[in-house]
Amino acid sequence: MNVQKDWPSLASSYGFKYLNKDQLPEGMFYAMAGWARGFPTIISRVTEGRQQAVVYLIRYASMLNPEQLKSRLPDSLRNKIVVAERSLTLRKPFSLREPAGTEIIDTYRQLSEAVQASAQPLNDLCELCQIHQGNFYVVGGIPSQLCGSCIGKIKAEQAESQRAYEELEAHPVRGTLWGIAAAVAGGVLKI
Ligand SMILES: [Zn+2]
Repeated sequence: MNVQKDWPSLASSYGFKYLNKDQLPEGMFYAMAGWARGFPTIISRVTEGRQQAVVYLIRYASMLNPEQLKSRLPDSLRNKIVVAERSLTLRKPFSLREPAGTEIIDTYRQLSEAVQASAQPLNDLCELCQIHQGNFYVVGGIPSQLCGSCIGKIKAEQAESQRAYEELEAHPVRGTLWGIAAAVAGGVLKI
């Protein structure tokens, strides 16, 4: 079975968009991303050095109850998640066999149910200006709610906006996996 070929159909069955290598920063091979009712989500297949992994990233406006969140997850996930102020990350390394689509969806479902019960979703406003209506974008592999005018600024003044965007969130995987620097260069994608 060619798992990679499963991702586009998995993505569409979840209302997510399939993204290929050309649309993602270095290190991310393919991904599916979606708004998920105010919880911007990206599930990506990454390579870090020799290690391969599937990384789940779910963003929220704020975490209301981290203990409750953890209590909703099975042991196998509870100790592996990284809960930051505005995002949850789970990195699941694999060596030989890439996890099957059903396994990925299963993990996503467990994470997303726990997050929805314990965190505040994003509203419709742009995360940067908090003024204009936002739209769903993937900026360098990070799912975000931004307005056209802020996206314009990001594109126009990369260095400047990079800093603003970095302040938006201490991204738990950014340092090792992909940086906003590479990120913005890696593309701004409207979903
Ligand atoms: Zn804005």
